[in-house]
Amino acid sequence: MQSSSSLVDRLAESDLFVTTSTRSASRTRSFILFSIVWALAAFAIALRGEQWLRSILIYLSRASWARTIVTNFPPAWAVASRFVAGESVDQAIAVARKLKGEGIDSTIDYLGEAVRTANEANDARDHILTLLDEIHASGMDAYVSVKLSQLGLGIDENLALANLRLLLERARSHGLRVRIDMEESALTEITLDIYRKMRLSEGFANVGIVIQSSLYRSDDDLRRLIDEGAWVRIVKGAYKEPASVAYPAKADVDKAYVRHTQMLLGDAARKNGVRAAIATHDPAMIDAALGWVRQNHISPADFEFQMLYGIAREKQRELVAQGYRVRLYIPYGTAWYPYFMRRLAERPANLWFFVSALFRG
Ligand SMILES: Cc1cc2nc3c(=O)[nH]c(=O)nc-3n(C[C@H](O)[C@H](O)[C@H](O)COP(=O)(O)OP(=O)(O)OC[C@H]3O[C@@H](n4cnc5c(N)ncnc54)[C@H](O)[C@@H]3O)c2cc1C
Repeated sequence: MQSSSSLVDRLAESDLFVTTSTRSASRTRSFILFSIVWALAAFAIALRGEQWLRSILIYLSRASWARTIVTNFPPAWAVASRFVAGESVDQAIAVARKLKGEGIDSTIDYLGEAVRTANEANDARDHILTLLDEIHASGMDAYVSVKLSQLGLGIDENLALANLRLLLERARSHGLRVRIDMEESALTEITLDIYRKMRLSEGFANVGIVIQSSLYRSDDDLRRLIDEGAWVRIVKGAYKEPASVAYPAKADVDKAYVRHTQMLLGDAARKNGVRAAIATHDPAMIDAALGWVRQNHISPADFEFQMLYGIAREKQRELVAQGYRVRLYIPYGTAWYPYFMRRLAERPANLWFFVSALFRG
């Protein structure tokens, strides 16, 4: 790594890349490093196909050196802002308000994850408390999505628990709901434990959870959550997982997703008061859900579709026009890098936006 950085430094300082300020020197350095990453990515696709590219992008989403390069490179934000509502609470609320006007609900996410200090975790908690106050003041019934690793799970389980409890208390006092996002499989068990502590032991009826169809364990997890009358979002899963815990083939994930959707929209789930959120942009998954709903005469009021801000806009509007409930996940904040990289990994074609932004400069 060291030798490639110094090569980049030398190139950036050479006559070819004469710059007039430190800012443009660092921009040039970013451009060169970026180009190297691109070349490696193109090589990986040519050699091993899209699956490899996905793995590389997920790896890069966690690499702090890559975060530094990408976030210091202005065109990156131009592309990332397609998926991120802005950097401030006000921008997120403004987007949610606009969507509400189009008949679309929101769940707002203050971006951040895997914090390393208690101060960072507590700052995130305080920011989300303000977000809850702002949502309440706006009069909207938007939800909030949080990640336990943002609240300190990687430092101390009790810290995350205490922070989540404060968020749930504030949300409850405003009549709002909080959903715990699901992170990588190493955190599945502890995330479910903390969810249950809040929902069942401490009686917070305003907390929800997410299940990833890609994991083998999810049939069992879902069965138990249905018995408990939980509030569940079903997703395919955004993390790169080993074959020991998750289906390696997309076709198997898709099959599991259809099965899980049908479980969540089954008689037992509805009898137990389960609130189901079918979170996908995949037209095949949406059609399978709609087929099941029609076949079983399930009311559109009994579930909702969820999608991510900036993806599948046509489909969102089409579902609303057909009378279905749609909620968008609206991320905002400055810590957009890992979220953005996961969106690239889901659809490597998004990389071309990057390339064109790179050359537009
Ligand atoms: C509301 C919501 C909340 C989520 N919460 C979590 C969570 O807590 N934990 C977690 O692991 N994952 C979460 N995810 C992400 C999820 O796991 C998938 O990674 C993501 O939704 C892509 O899968 P898909 O179902 O859309 O199907 P895919 O098979 O990946 O995609 C189907 C089609 O959708 C479109 N599409 C999908 N992704 C993109 C993209 N990034 N850019 C452009 N088009 C795209 C493309 O047309 C693609 O062909 C969430 C997703 C949503 C919608």
